Order: sequence, then C-alpha cells, then structure tokens
Amino acid sequence: MLTNANLMTALNLFCDDLIANKAYLSDLDSPIGDGDHGVNMSRGALALKEALIEKQPGTLSETFKLAGMTLLSKVGGASGPLYGSAFMGMSNISGTVLANSELADALQLGMDMVAKRGKSTVGEKTMLDVWGPSIAHIRANDLTTTTIKEAVDATKDLLATKGRASFLGERSIGHIDPGAASSGFFFNNLLKAGVL
Ligand code: ADP
Ligand code: MG
Ligand code: MG
Repeated sequence: MLTNANLMTALNLFCDDLIANKAYLSDLDSPIGDGDHGVNMSRGALALKEALIEKQPGTLSETFKLAGMTLLSKVGGASGPLYGSAFMGMSNISGTVLANSELADALQLGMDMVAKRGKSTVGEKTMLDVWGPSIAHIRANDLTTTTIKEAVDATKDLLATKGRASFLGERSIGHIDPGAASSGFFFNNLLKAGVL
C-alpha cells in the first residue's frame, strides 16, 4: 500500500542510491552513450532530497508532482524529461492511499507518459524495459529484488532502437542500459520502503 509517508521514504532512498551509484550509472552509459547518466541522475537526486525537506508535500499527488518537476528541471539529458514525465504522470492520481493494484495503475500512467514523450515502447533497451515488467509483477503481487534485477540484466541482450545507444546499432548489444539500471533502483526502493 502506498502512502505519502512511504512514498517520501522510497523517493529519499531512490535518491540515496542514485547519489551512491553516480559512477556506476555513468560507467554503464560510457560504452553505449555519453557517460553522464550518473552525473545527470545524482544532480536531480540531490535537488529532490532538498525539495522534499523544503516543501514537505502533504499528499501523494503533490509528492509525485514535486518529484516530476524537480527531475524535469534538474536532471537534463534525455532522462530528465522522461523521468519528469513519469512522475508527472503519476501525479494525476487521487486518493491518500493506493492499494497495490491502484499503485500499478499509477505507475502505468507514468510509464505511458514516458512512452509518449520518448516515442518508445518495451523492448527497445530503455528504462521502459524495467518499468513494464516491474508493473506487471506489482499487479501479480510478486515484485522482488530478483525480478527487478532480471529485468535490468535482460536489457543487456537487447538491441537499442531509441536514445543515444541506438546510434551504435548492433554494438549496443552486450551492455546493460543505464536508464534501466536507475529505474531498477526506483522499484527496489518501493520494496525497501515497505510500499509492497
Ligand atoms: P542522454 O542520453 O541525453 O545523455 P542520460 O544518459 O541521462 O541521457 O539517459 C539515458 C537513458 O535514457 C537511457 O539509458 C534510456 O534508458 C533512457 N532513454 C533514452 N531515450 C529514451 C526513449 N526515447 N524512451 C525511453 N527511455 C529513453
Ligand atoms: Mg548519457
Ligand atoms: Mg548526455
């Protein structure tokens, strides 16, 4: 069950992971991109941690909106507008608590915004390859750290057809997608915060 309190906990933990894994995420982005995904995401994460303390958003919708606006304005690159869209999409929900099926609906709204903005779909070696399977697992009540890791690792075998990695064509195969890895941190922290 998602509450504003555990959402704020999950977002803070997500930010902590992004900051702690700045070098790891940029290293993933080096062979198939421009090596800045960790730099981009940790900049947004620092800003979001500050914003959460400063603004103390009081509802799920406000918290999602603050995350969306902050990531949109601070992350930059391709991933800033995409993560921004995801959280802005989720801010369209109403209610003070979300049962797991309602959370899956909210995450799906976010994912649909990413897909629309990125003109992308599951299977193109992007963050959507973690969002899609993870939302399905939340619906089936069986999201685990293992299923998340499997989704992240599975991006290794995919051919990139969107974003910078697509410029490499076949040579994009064999590398984990950095946005998939950062999204893995997001879903892992929903578990860690006790949301699921
Ligand atoms: P940039 O490529 O501008 O340097 P980042 O390195 O921060 O931006 O983010 C790259 C990540 O963004 C990719 O690993 C991928 O997961 C995600 N991404 C890029 N383009 C798209 C897209 N069209 N749809 C969904 N995700 C995308
Ligand atoms: Mg990059
Ligand atoms: Mg870049």
